[in-house]
Amino acid sequence: MADLKIWMNGTLLPQEQAVLPVNSAAVFYATNVFEGLRAYWNERDGEVYAFRLADHFARLRESMKMMRFTVPYSDDDLFEAVRAVLAGNELREDVHMHLVAYVLAPGLEATSPSGLYINPRRRPRVPEGKGVSACISNWTRTSDNAIPIRLKSGSNYQNGRLARLQARADGYDEPIFLNQRGKVAEGSGATFFMVRKGRLVTPTTSSDILESITRTTLMEDLCPHVLHMDVVERDVDRTELYTAEEAFLCGSGYEITPVTSVDRFPLGRGEIGPVTRALSTAYLNLVRGVDSRHPEWRTPTYKKVTV
Ligand code: PMP
Repeated sequence: MADLKIWMNGTLLPQEQAVLPVNSAAVFYATNVFEGLRAYWNERDGEVYAFRLADHFARLRESMKMMRFTVPYSDDDLFEAVRAVLAGNELREDVHMHLVAYVLAPGLEATSPSGLYINPRRRPRVPEGKGVSACISNWTRTSDNAIPIRLKSGSNYQNGRLARLQARADGYDEPIFLNQRGKVAEGSGATFFMVRKGRLVTPTTSSDILESITRTTLMEDLCPHVLHMDVVERDVDRTELYTAEEAFLCGSGYEITPVTSVDRFPLGRGEIGPVTRALSTAYLNLVRGVDSRHPEWRTPTYKKVTV
C-alpha cells in the first residue's frame, strides 16, 4: 500500500520529502512537542471522526507553552491541517496521526521559528483476543521535576524508548515504569489501569505520568456510565501488579490493550478479563460513534465545521 502523504506547513508531501535540517533544535535536541490521535471511519455516516480533537489541541498548546515554543497556530489552523491531511490522502478508514510542532533554529535556547507537520499512518491495533506480556522496567520514569512528563515533548520519549527496548530484549511485549518514589507510573506510551479486589485502580496524575485523554474518557465517562464502576486514583505498589485480577494499558494509540501477565505472573487466569473486554468494546463504540453519546468528542473531518 502506498505511503500516506505528510502535511508539512501547508503542503502535502511524500514521506521522503518531509525533512528537517540536521542543525535544527528539532533534530539535534528533539525540540518538538506532539500529539498522537486517532480518527475513525464511520460507515453509516460516511465520515471520518477525529476523537477528542479539541483536547489534543489544548494539550499541544500546553506542551508548546511549557517547552517555551512560540505558538503561531490557532485551533482553526490546526483543524484545517487535520482536514487537509485526511482529505488529501483520501482516507476512508481508521487512521492514527502524529501532530508535531518543532523548532527550526539551532541551539539549546531556540524557541522559534516553529513549524508543524502531521504524519498520518495506518497503525495496527493489538489483535482482538490477545493480550500483552508486561514487565516492570528496570528504568525509572523520568521525574516531573526533570522534564515535564505530564505533557508530550519528543525528548521525554528516550526514557520510554530505553524501557521498551529493554523489555523486548528480555522477552516481554511492554514495560511498566515505576517512578522515583517506587510507585507504579505508566507504560512507555500508555496509561496503566488494573482491576484489584473488584475495583478499577489507576495511578494519580502526581505519579509522573502523562495527563492522558483516554484516561479521562475512561474515568469520567465509560467506567462510571457504561460499566457502572468508579475508578480509584491512588498510589499503586509493584506487588499489587502481580496480584491484580486484570490490567490494561490505554491511550489514543493503544486504545485498550489488555495485559495478561506482569513479570510472568499471570493476572487472573492469564487471559483477557471481563472488565477489560467490556471496556474495550465500550471504548471502540464511543470513538467510532456506534455509541452516539458525546458527539462533541467526534469531530467530522469531511464536513465543514469548527472545533
Ligand atoms: N502515557 C504516555 C507516555 C503516552 O505517550 C501516551 C500516549 N499519548 C499516553 C500515556 C496516553 O495518552 P492519551 O490517552 O492522551 O493518548
